[in-house]
Amino acid sequence: RAKGQGGNACTVYTPAMNTRAQELLELERDLRSSLEHDQFILHYQPQVDLATGRLVGMEALLRWQHPARGLVPPGDFIPLAEQTGLITSIGEWVLRTACRQNLAWQDQGLPPVRMAVNISPRQFYKGDLVAKVSSILEDTGMDPAQLELEITESMIMEEVETAVSTMHEISAMGIALAIDDFGSGYSSLAYLKRFPISRLKIDRAFVKDIPNDTNDAAIVSAAIAMANSLNLDTVAEGIESPEQNDFLRSQGCRLGQGYYFGRPVPAEQLAGAWDRGNPAPDRPAHLISGPH
Ligand code: C2E
Ligand code: MG
Ligand code: MG
Ligand code: MG
Repeated sequence: RAKGQGGNACTVYTPAMNTRAQELLELERDLRSSLEHDQFILHYQPQVDLATGRLVGMEALLRWQHPARGLVPPGDFIPLAEQTGLITSIGEWVLRTACRQNLAWQDQGLPPVRMAVNISPRQFYKGDLVAKVSSILEDTGMDPAQLELEITESMIMEEVETAVSTMHEISAMGIALAIDDFGSGYSSLAYLKRFPISRLKIDRAFVKDIPNDTNDAAIVSAAIAMANSLNLDTVAEGIESPEQNDFLRSQGCRLGQGYYFGRPVPAEQLAGAWDRGNPAPDRPAHLISGPH
């Protein structure tokens, strides 16, 4: 408790705040030791071609295997990792692990797919991202053409000039750039034309209520049409139903991702994802058929 600053000073520290501060400290300490003890894991979620139902890519999604808390979703620890700077080491681990996994699948004889990795603002602006990515590509033997980095509009807008030059360096390495959560920020598509990006991921918030919500349906259709006219690929996030899938496909959206195609799961549980859109006679049809 604060003392000696007059009667009200002690009320600055409430029991609730104390608990919260202690929790954060504990969380930070746990995060640090988890990096050393291999307690992070990547889950992978399929991205499919909406026209054929075929698997074209995977997004790597980070989880924390906490000894006491169980599997912790990224929303519960990435903000703190970002704040403390730990995100740069964690992000490096994510990149390396995702690249290794991509090669492991190919070693198993599975057809190559693109690997999408989320990049945090701090990682993006630290100045050594390009060097880090290059050394990871070199160490792992990952083909840059199969790597895609996901960044957000708001990240780019923080410092446009720096962002654009970093994006050009990444793109010059043959790595694709995607704008994640498109529509959640404020940039216009015309503005995006200035950036060396190859695809837009339409934010799940706009996909959630289509096709019934006519406003969202109009926004999504316009975004797809403009993206197509700018030669940008579109990926719809959060597809959960056949209705959403059909609507997006009919509007010319090329790719999709969501529970409808598969939830994010550990690598070992994904072998069947490559059968999607490629029916084999000895498998039950409902397990292998693409979206219908
Ligand atoms: P994101 O990159 O937009 O990832 C998509 C999120 O939507 C994932 O949540 C995924 O599990 C969820 N999702 C996918 N399909 C559906 C669906 O059909 N319905 C619903 N309701 N949700 C769906 P997750 O895994 O909890 O990740 C949340 C966010 O955490 C990610 O959003 C990304 O911004 C961040 N994140 C995840 N992994 C990493 C990482 O390795 N590094 C960094 N910097 N951020 C990460
Ligand atoms: Mg993402
Ligand atoms: Mg997203
Ligand atoms: Mg999101």
